[in-house]
Amino acid sequence: MVNGYTASSLKEALTILAETNAVPYAGGTDLMLENRPGVKYLFLKKIPELRSITADERYIRIGAAVTFTEALASPLVPPLMKEAVSHIAAPAIRNAGTFGGNIGNGSDKADTVVVEFAADAKARIVSKEKERIADIDKVFLSRKHLGLSDGELIAEILLPRKGLERYAYTKVGGRQSQAVSFVSFAGVFGLENGRITNAAAAFGAAGDAVQRYRDIEKSLIGKTPDEAKKVKADYLRAYEERILVNQSRVGPEYQRIVCLNLLNDFLSRFGV
Ligand SMILES: Cc1cc2nc3c(=O)[nH]c(=O)nc-3n(C[C@H](O)[C@H](O)[C@H](O)COP(=O)(O)OP(=O)(O)OC[C@H]3O[C@@H](n4cnc5c(N)ncnc54)[C@H](O)[C@@H]3O)c2cc1C
Repeated sequence: MVNGYTASSLKEALTILAETNAVPYAGGTDLMLENRPGVKYLFLKKIPELRSITADERYIRIGAAVTFTEALASPLVPPLMKEAVSHIAAPAIRNAGTFGGNIGNGSDKADTVVVEFAADAKARIVSKEKERIADIDKVFLSRKHLGLSDGELIAEILLPRKGLERYAYTKVGGRQSQAVSFVSFAGVFGLENGRITNAAAAFGAAGDAVQRYRDIEKSLIGKTPDEAKKVKADYLRAYEERILVNQSRVGPEYQRIVCLNLLNDFLSRFGV
């Protein structure tokens, strides 16, 4: 039996968060690994406002307490996100783990977060006093650093409805499934009237933060794929100098080479 509270509405949850030190949880797949004596928890999964996947004109809105299995079954969730989700752990974890928890855990290896970075996703953040929409890189700052204040909850993840059709996603781990990422990569490519409009490239698990370098991406914007091919070597060199790698057990040089290969494959896929 979990020590704490169960809220049945968002309003109730936000009141509990404002008045107590309760720690929110949804699937518990990360929190169950921690032993925090005396901590009271607030269960989010019975809150209808956090459990739906909807769409408006601009966004697919995924409730923070939606599970990965539910997302895989939804016709609204874009293929790029489904591909990342399908590589998470195994069915038991996908049945319990949620989108809000994936961000809230603050791991640079979080597989949905790297997609959210590449997709220019936003999060709707709510507290008892206010609500705000924030870019994902203002919510997920770096390992164990979130842009959330006390009393704030992630309510929804907002993925753009358009522009995610051309994409690449790769998770590199020690085995095909049940693997922690050594490197994860999500890329989104945009082409209009023969010219590149987007070349978003996000790397997870390689540094302490999810990495995206918009200034390097810009060097391809406005070019045709053939023109971009001519500056590709400089572009890859710029990433080589910038990508941060960590002292994981696979080694920093391996991570750097994998990142650059994934980037190269991403562009090649779209004729660059
Ligand atoms: C065996 C195993 C394999 C795994 N494999 C993968 C994998 O391949 N890829 C991957 O990305 N992850 C993996 N994970 C990690 C985990 O399953 C995911 O991070 C999952 O998304 C966590 O969701 P949850 O609902 O279980 O989070 P919880 O454990 O409930 O919460 C995690 C954190 O997020 C906070 N939180 C939860 N919801 C909110 C919210 N709405 N607003 C603010 N904060 C919130 C909690 O306070 C807590 O700090 C694995 C875990 C296990 C145990």
